[in-house]
Amino acid sequence: MEWGFYDKLRPVQIEAIQDKIPIAYLPWGAIEYHGNHNPTGLDTHKAHHLCVDLAKKNGGLVFPPISLAANLISSYSGVNFPKHSIEFSEEIIKQICEEYFEQLVQQNFKIIVLLSGHAGEPHLQILRDTAIKFNKKHPKIHFWALTEFNILPDNLLVANHSAIGETSIQLVYEPETVALEVLPKEGKITLEDHAVSGDDPRASTAQHGQKIINAFLENATQKINTLKTKYL
Ligand SMILES: [Zn+2]
Repeated sequence: MEWGFYDKLRPVQIEAIQDKIPIAYLPWGAIEYHGNHNPTGLDTHKAHHLCVDLAKKNGGLVFPPISLAANLISSYSGVNFPKHSIEFSEEIIKQICEEYFEQLVQQNFKIIVLLSGHAGEPHLQILRDTAIKFNKKHPKIHFWALTEFNILPDNLLVANHSAIGETSIQLVYEPETVALEVLPKEGKITLEDHAVSGDDPRASTAQHGQKIINAFLENATQKINTLKTKYL
């Protein structure tokens, strides 16, 4: 399948891929505290690697990840994690998304897949609403904004922060960045103490992560195939 990193290619190389498969993948992440057991850029790296895997399977061009997000754990009520998050306003997120989309139209992409590794709200809803708005504005182009759990069954992955889902995916793509051993051996893992929202990350495995990734790639590919017949 023909694919590449948009920012690592020269014009002739970009056009060779784009002429055949005018799909852009835009991984959207965050710099956000993910507890002591995961790196701050988990959302960014997760979205980036999933987009690369999607491009390998479906073709197209992967843009560099955007590590700008609103609605981070640092602003959750009832928790106190002021460090290791870089947060932006919802207004800025909307504006960047709109300007990026508009320029991807000018650059002749026909399908734009925005994968958000960060699912804080309304951050995610802003991205999805912008895609809906652009689908109306440009009916011959399709904008698909999603986060990975949007297309996965609940028994495989639900919205979570640094819990078993995100940690297992990280164990597949960048295992050297995860330190499960810093979590307490016993007792409950909580949002307040460990910055974890969701099921116990101590049960995370690369095997579980691979299962999530495979299902994501399968479901996303199905949707991209439908979009290809309609928009390419
Ligand atoms: Zn995350």
